[in-house]
Amino acid sequence: MGRHTEAVCRLCRREKDKLYLKGDRCFTDKCAVVRHAYPPGEHGQGRQKFSEYGQQLREKQKARRIYGVFERQFRRYFKEADRRRGVTGEILLQLLESRLDSVVYRMGLARSRTEARQLINHGHFQVNGRRVDIPSFLTRIGDEVAVQEKSKSKPVFKQIIDERDQQTVVDWLEADHEKLQGKVIRIPQREEIDVPVTEHLIVELYSR
Ligand code: SF4
Repeated sequence: MGRHTEAVCRLCRREKDKLYLKGDRCFTDKCAVVRHAYPPGEHGQGRQKFSEYGQQLREKQKARRIYGVFERQFRRYFKEADRRRGVTGEILLQLLESRLDSVVYRMGLARSRTEARQLINHGHFQVNGRRVDIPSFLTRIGDEVAVQEKSKSKPVFKQIIDERDQQTVVDWLEADHEKLQGKVIRIPQREEIDVPVTEHLIVELYSR
């Protein structure tokens, strides 16, 4: 996905769903979806009817926006999910959840996936003791994710930990917020992935 320069809340309003792109604000009444529950733009409040293809496309766009993934990269995840044994849509979401930026966010070491991506890009994180600055790095069971020792005193991490009371750590990850580190315990089940995506529509889209 091209990185959007327009207000990210417009993306949620376009999908008429919370995509949680802005961190803490997403949990408050200031959320744009709460305040304006219709798509942005001149025709936002008009009647919206999608064809079958349109619905599939919207669902794919929604997933890409939630995880901040480019089209080409997203298609690669789909191909990999399709190659593996199991339910393709579920595996697709599991792959997206295993991305380092998503794991850092889920551990509560960033307030949004966007922030996680920035912090990783700036070299503040390590996996199993080795610096990793690639947000799309795919974590595995047993991987230990931590803020780099020299980055731990940065004010941004204090802010993140102080403000993280609204976000709970998911069961499939461990997190120690004092030590600014965590561990991947297992792969999440579909019901543990709380993204508002109907993944079978994405599978149908790519299977056309
Ligand atoms: Fe904005 Fe977050 Fe609400 Fe989306 S969920 S509209 S990013 S505040």
